Amino acid sequence: MDRSRWIRTWQYLAAIGVCVVALGIKLALSPTLGQKTPFLLFFAAVSFSAWYGGTGPAVLAIVLSALLAKWFFLAPFHTFMVEPSELLRMLSFSAEASLVAFLSLQLRQAREAAEQGVTQAETALRVREEFLAIASHELKTPLTSLHLDVLFLRRLLGATDQKLREELPSRIERVARQTTRLTALVNSLFDVSRLSSGMLTLVRADVELGELVQEVVERLAPEAAQARCVLNVEAPHPIHGQWDRLRLEQVVTNLLGNAIKYGAGAPVDLLVDTVDGLARLRVRDRGTGIPPEAQARIFGRFERAASPQHFGGLGLGLYISRQIAEAHGGTLGVESTPGQGSTFILMLPLESPGSE
Ligand code: ADP
Repeated sequence: MDRSRWIRTWQYLAAIGVCVVALGIKLALSPTLGQKTPFLLFFAAVSFSAWYGGTGPAVLAIVLSALLAKWFFLAPFHTFMVEPSELLRMLSFSAEASLVAFLSLQLRQAREAAEQGVTQAETALRVREEFLAIASHELKTPLTSLHLDVLFLRRLLGATDQKLREELPSRIERVARQTTRLTALVNSLFDVSRLSSGMLTLVRADVELGELVQEVVERLAPEAAQARCVLNVEAPHPIHGQWDRLRLEQVVTNLLGNAIKYGAGAPVDLLVDTVDGLARLRVRDRGTGIPPEAQARIFGRFERAASPQHFGGLGLGLYISRQIAEAHGGTLGVESTPGQGSTFILMLPLESPGSE
């Protein structure tokens, strides 16, 4: 028997148990209390059953209590025959016990909702704290380097030293790179707040996926070369769809950027085709791979599976990319074997919603 069925069975047994305990106490107190309050302790049993087990055990407790009270405490005793005068008392017990059960259930639900609220608030707070720590670290690194480069350039203004002047192009190149990185980071943060408030709107136009992928590949070629990644693009036929070009570029850039980052030193394959009436992009690297337990999690906000010492990042790229895929009516998933690499798969409907 699985765990939830065990718990369910246990809840019914507990309902029977508390009714029997209520009966025992009532019998023990009978010499003192007399026969005046035949149902008194059974209300407690019903309330407990509703609180602990929910509707089913509560109904069982009401029926069992009514039968036990009848058998032991309502004349004629030790029979289930009910005299008309007692019938009304039994009906009134059933109605009152139902009310008690209902109130107990409501109380339990309110408590559960409050507990859930507290857990959610705690999680949100933890996520925010983690995010602030990561974001400040991620923003600080390019800012520090930018600051040093700008100080260097200022010194250079009045310098005559030829050696210093030779460093100028590489310093300016670095400033440009850090500015691009900062812009991308800030854009990611904006995207997250836009997504959280449901304000991501798509600007659809005719897009050829293979061509878009090729453009991104060309743009990231210097980064790939630096990471010693050969990029192979396979797009046998043109695939057109009504998609948001800039947003898809963002997804492909993110997937390819990750493949280069986590798969440095090995080739990366990008395959564009169609399957079951959907456009499909597969980005395959031969890098670190992702542990099975992290594969679903990494699409969450601020979720990362890589060690922060080795790889920088906010843990937002895949979250934003999946949101963009889903806004198009598509999906983004991953297949990965740790140590062997990962394949990210983007699926997009060829028809936009509403078009025939
Ligand atoms: P970031 O790379 O900035 O941390 P992402 O949302 O793009 O954020 O990725 C989330 C996590 O998923 C990464 O921290 C990394 O652990 C994992 N990941 C993403 N792409 C790959 C990949 N190609 N290979 C291995 N791990 C990856």
